[in-house]
Amino acid sequence: MILAIDIGGTTTKLGLVENGQVVVRDRINTNGHADEHAFADAIAEHARKLITATGTKLTSIGIGAPNANQHTGIIEMAPNLPWKHDVPLANMMATRMGATAVLGNDANAAALGEWRYGAGKGYNDLMVVTLGTGVGGGFIVNGKLVLGSAGNAGELGHTTLVMDGRPCTCGRAGCLETYVSIRGIRQTYLDLGGDSDIIRTEGVKPIADAALAGDRAAQFTFQWTADWLAVGLANAVAITGPGRIVLFGGIVRSGRLLMDPLQARFKKVLLNIYQGRVDIVSSGLPEDDSALLGAAALGGTGDH
Ligand SMILES: [Zn+2]
Repeated sequence: MILAIDIGGTTTKLGLVENGQVVVRDRINTNGHADEHAFADAIAEHARKLITATGTKLTSIGIGAPNANQHTGIIEMAPNLPWKHDVPLANMMATRMGATAVLGNDANAAALGEWRYGAGKGYNDLMVVTLGTGVGGGFIVNGKLVLGSAGNAGELGHTTLVMDGRPCTCGRAGCLETYVSIRGIRQTYLDLGGDSDIIRTEGVKPIADAALAGDRAAQFTFQWTADWLAVGLANAVAITGPGRIVLFGGIVRSGRLLMDPLQARFKKVLLNIYQGRVDIVSSGLPEDDSALLGAAALGGTGDH
C-alpha cells in the first residue's frame, strides 16, 4: 500500500493507494499549523489512522507539491504555501512513517499518474499538461520522467508565447500560462468585450455556459484559447516528440468547446514530421483521485 500525499495551497489530500485505486482517503488544511514540523505531524497522524483502519502495511510514500525538487526531496520556497523557506518534506515524512518517501513537483506527479494509471498508459514518450489556476507540464521521454538539473523540469506554462505579452506571476511577461490558465481565459473574455457580470462566478464554467448560450465573446474566448494552447503544445512536441498529449485539470471540463478548436488548430500548426504521430486526449483518471494517484505513482516502485 502506498501512502499518497498531495499538497495544495489550501488543502492537503492523503490516501492509501493499491493497484491504481485510492482505497481510503482523508484531507487536512495546509494552513494553520504552527510550523512545517507540526504540519508533517498532522499528516502522519491522519495517515496512521488510515493505515490502522485498513489493517495494511505501508510500502512507500509519494508526495506531490508545488516547487518540489525531486532530486533533493525539498519544497523550495513555494510562493503558494505557508512556508517561505526550504522544507525537506520527503525526509520528514520518511522519518515519521518509517518508509521511503519520494517528493516531486505536482505537475510531474500528475504526469506519472497518467502514465501509470491513466490515458498515458503504454506510451514511452508522453506529455501531460495540467490546465488550471496555473499551467504545468510533465514530460516522459524514452520511458523516463524528465527531471532536469534542478529536479523540476517541464515548466511548460512559463514558456513565452507572446513577446512582451501579459504579465505573469513569475515576474516575466507573455507566458503561455497567462493565456490558457483559468485567469488567462477570464482575461481573454474581458479583452474581447465579454460581460463582466458573467465572470462574477469563479472559474471558466460561466464563460463556457455563456458560449453555449450564444455569447459571441465567450465563443471567441474558447477559439483564441485553443489557438494559443495549440501553438504551445506544437512547440513542445517539436522538442520531445511525444506519441500522446494528455490534458488534465479544471479547464478540460469545458469539453468540446475547447477540444474541437484545439484539435483543428493543432493539426494546422504541428510540424509535418509529427503529423499523425501524436494525439491529444483528456485525462483518463477519476477527477477527485487524480492528484493522489499521481503522488502514488511517484512513490511507487518504478515498475511501470
Ligand atoms: Zn511565467
